[in-house]
Amino acid sequence: MDILHCSFECYPAAKVGGLADVAGALPKYLNQVNLSTALIMPKHDTPWLNQASFAVDYAGSFRWYYGDVGFRVLRETTGTLGFPLYVVELNDLFLRRGIYVRENGYPYHDEPERYIAFQLAVLNWVKQFQTKPKLIHVHDHHCGLIPLFMQCGPEFHALRSIPTVFTIHNGLYQGAFSWDKKYILPYLPSQVYGLLDWNDAINPMACAVKCAQAVTTVSKGYLQELMQFANGLETLFQKEHQKCFGIINGIDGEVWSPERDRYIDHLREGSLSREFKKANKESLCRDYGFKFDKPLFIFIGRLVHEKGADLIPDAINKLLQQTEVYMLLLGSGSADIEQALRLCSVKHSAHVKYAQGYNEPLSHRMYASADFLIMPSRIEPCGLNQLYAMHYGTIPIVNDIGGLRGSVTDLTDASPRGIKIKNATVDELYNGLKRAVSLFQNPELLDSISIKNMQIDFSWNEAIKPYLAIYEYLTKSKTMI
Ligand code: ADP
Repeated sequence: MDILHCSFECYPAAKVGGLADVAGALPKYLNQVNLSTALIMPKHDTPWLNQASFAVDYAGSFRWYYGDVGFRVLRETTGTLGFPLYVVELNDLFLRRGIYVRENGYPYHDEPERYIAFQLAVLNWVKQFQTKPKLIHVHDHHCGLIPLFMQCGPEFHALRSIPTVFTIHNGLYQGAFSWDKKYILPYLPSQVYGLLDWNDAINPMACAVKCAQAVTTVSKGYLQELMQFANGLETLFQKEHQKCFGIINGIDGEVWSPERDRYIDHLREGSLSREFKKANKESLCRDYGFKFDKPLFIFIGRLVHEKGADLIPDAINKLLQQTEVYMLLLGSGSADIEQALRLCSVKHSAHVKYAQGYNEPLSHRMYASADFLIMPSRIEPCGLNQLYAMHYGTIPIVNDIGGLRGSVTDLTDASPRGIKIKNATVDELYNGLKRAVSLFQNPELLDSISIKNMQIDFSWNEAIKPYLAIYEYLTKSKTMI
């Protein structure tokens, strides 16, 4: 194996958001250019992982604060993912319904323990390989202590010279925990404690930024934003900027394809994009009792403050007073945003429907059917929804930040792709929706933007190139600076 990816999520095995999509695609596309790449993740209690077939690759244990902890690493045997998938089986910590939070939405009390146990299991597994990976690529704070453990942990001496890459999918979540929990770390010499620390707490994201040989995040725009505002880490990003890179995510064309998508009602035949949109919109509208000849807006996402879904009810209230539109909202998350969407759908029961929960098949049908996707995000490191939307001919309405800034252009641009709002506010969103209604009244322009968007190459074939360059550089020289 050349490259080992470590992630807490991976599509289709376990998905909460964009991290899973990337983790399920990047290794596959790296393998397609003959870079032998595998991924390891925890064995969560998800339907896919419960039904998959596995063979035991390794059974071992690691020494932890309360004694030896036994674990197994299993390898998925069907080989249909396009890369070898390994899972760490440690049922007390990972065999839980929610990947990060309990079913009631509250965090697990042993969050840091779960992440550290995963990282220790991975490193204990790798250290007994006869031929070690050439590089280890870790994703988000859940795996952020791996670079430090490898470089400074005496028990992982054998891994010391392997370069590491750290990718930030969302800088909002840093995984910080109190020094009172220092006992859950493996032994580390006290002189390296400074690498763990940020603002008097153990901060896995800060530690990874300090210790990994290269740090990437999922768009150039978001990297710029992290240097200005990163929940307290901005000075760290400024200091480490030479080894930081913004690389926009790609689309996995085997999962997201108007010609092959197994979840949508009507596949695109040849270049018949208009017919594809029409047929899919008709069937979705029929299911939800919507009028087909009116604008159809959708929102898909985690219902958290950063996604701006809380702005939708007030904006739609204003819009529905003036014009007839339809809206389908899909997502789950914080109780108050769920409640606000539910109330909005009750108040406008003929025009607004809210599908609570996580529903992969419905999300594909929505991208294929809608006229417009709403993304009024306050923070959006890359954003995959707008890429999927454009790929399926749905016009994105986005706040002009992070990865949305570089991937969507406004109607006023020479090559328009969507509609941009300047701020995540109700008024701005309302203006964006009104502009969308005007665009809908100009079907020729709407169709031409939609069809051009479907032709843009958002594939991973392009998106892997910067990763390949970083891997090549690090496996030769081992340092970016
Ligand atoms: P984030 O990772 O911040 O959640 P991204 O835009 O990077 O946001 O990725 C979101 C991914 O999760 C997309 O594939 C989107 O379709 C999917 N998704 C989000 N919420 C849901 C949901 N409730 N049901 C189905 N898919 C969802």
